[in-house]
Amino acid sequence: MFRISTHIVVGFLSALVLTGSLGSERSAAQAPASGVTALTNVRIIDGTGAPAVERGTVVISNGKVTAAGASAQVPAGATRVDLNGKTVMPGMINAHAHVQHQTKSMPMRDDLVRRLRLYASYGITTAVSLGQTTVEEQAEVIRLRDEQDTIALDRARVYTSGPSIRGLKTADEARRAVDRYADLKVDRIKTHVVLKEMGPEIYAAMIDQTHKRGLRIATHIFTLDEAKTVLERGADLIAHSVRDRDVDQAFITMLKDRNVGYIPTLTRDLSLVVYQTMPAFFKEPFFQRGMAVYREQVDMISQPAYQQKMRENPQTKVIEKALEQGTRNLKLLSDGGVMIAMGTDSGTDEGRWQGYFEQVEIEMMVKAGLTPMQAIVASTGNAARVSRLDHLGTIAVGKAADLVVLDANPLQDIRNLRQINSVWIAGRRMGTTGTN
Ligand SMILES: [Zn+2]
Repeated sequence: MFRISTHIVVGFLSALVLTGSLGSERSAAQAPASGVTALTNVRIIDGTGAPAVERGTVVISNGKVTAAGASAQVPAGATRVDLNGKTVMPGMINAHAHVQHQTKSMPMRDDLVRRLRLYASYGITTAVSLGQTTVEEQAEVIRLRDEQDTIALDRARVYTSGPSIRGLKTADEARRAVDRYADLKVDRIKTHVVLKEMGPEIYAAMIDQTHKRGLRIATHIFTLDEAKTVLERGADLIAHSVRDRDVDQAFITMLKDRNVGYIPTLTRDLSLVVYQTMPAFFKEPFFQRGMAVYREQVDMISQPAYQQKMRENPQTKVIEKALEQGTRNLKLLSDGGVMIAMGTDSGTDEGRWQGYFEQVEIEMMVKAGLTPMQAIVASTGNAARVSRLDHLGTIAVGKAADLVVLDANPLQDIRNLRQINSVWIAGRRMGTTGTN
C-alpha cells in the first residue's frame, strides 16, 4: 500500500543540524502575533489576479489580515513597517508537495520540521503533501498539521493526503483504503492513475467513497486518456501534466465545467532530465541557501556515475519529450481558461529541491507562456482554491497573514520572486533567511 520511496538515503551526511541562515529562523520570529502591524507604502499583489495596488497598506492582527488596499487605515497603536519600493504578495502554496522523512541522519520530526522551514525560507508558506511513505511519517505529518493553528508557527503550513493509493484489485478494497485514510483525518485522498493497474471501476469506487467521506481526490496521471477517465468519474484535481499528446477542447471543457484544477509539476520532469550533466544551478547562491538540507542529494547527483546512468537510461529521452509536451499543454490549458495551480512534486525522489524548485516551477510557467501575474495567481489564490484552503492564498480581510515581501516587482520579471525581503506566516515575521 505505501509507496516506497526509492531513494531515501544514500550517504555520508555530516551531521546536518540547522546551520547558518536557516538556523536563525528558530529564534528570530519578530512580530508578536497578538499585536497589530501595518505594512505601509507597499505594492500589493493580492493573489486574485486583480491589478496590483501601487501604494497600499496591509493591516495584520491576530495572525490575520484585517484590512488591505489603497485606502486601508492604519489603526492607532499599530506597529508600522514602511515598505516603500517593495512588493507584498501572499505566501506561495505548493499544491503538490511531499513532506517526507528523507534522511536517516536525523529523527523524523526534526527532518520534517527543517523541510517546512526550508519551504518557508523560499517564500513557500504552505505545502500540500500529496503522498506519505510510511505509517509513522503519516502520523507525524498529521501531528504537525494539527498543532500548526495553536503554536507560534515558524515554518510552512502542511496538509496531507495520505499515501497515493494504487495497486488495488477490487472496488471494495478501494473503498476500504479511502476509509482508512479518512479515519486518520487526512485532508484529501491521492491516487496514482495507471489504467493497466486498476480499471476505471476501481477509480470510480475510490472517487465515490472519497466524496462520501467529504473529501476530495487528487490524481497522478500521465496521459490524456487517464486524465479523462478519472475526470468522467468525478476526480477533483489533476496533479500532474498531460504529457502524451496535446490536450483537446473536450478536456478543457471538462475541467472548466467541473471546476477542476490542473497542476503541471514541470520541475518533476525536469528532475528526471537535468542531471545528465552537472546542473549549473548547483552553483547559484539562491540554490545554495538550502544546502543544509540539499547537501545529501547534491553529493549523490554530483557523482559522474549518477549522471552517466541518467544519460544511459532510455526513460530520460521519454521524459524530455514529456516535459516539452507538458509545457505546451500548460499554455493551451491556461489560454483555454482552466484553473492552473502551482505544484512541483518536490520532496520526493532525487533532486526535487523543496523551496528552490517552486521558484523554478514558477519561472518555467512563465517560460511556457503564462504572464507573471498568471503564474503568481497559480501559486497563491489558485493553489489555495484547488486545495480547498479557503483561509489562505490571497491578501484579503479574514485570510491568514501568510505573506512574502519582495525587494523588486515580480510583475516586471518573475525572477524578482527570488528577491525575498521577508516571509510572514500567521502574521509572524520569520527570521532573515537569505542573503538579503
Ligand atoms: Zn507527488
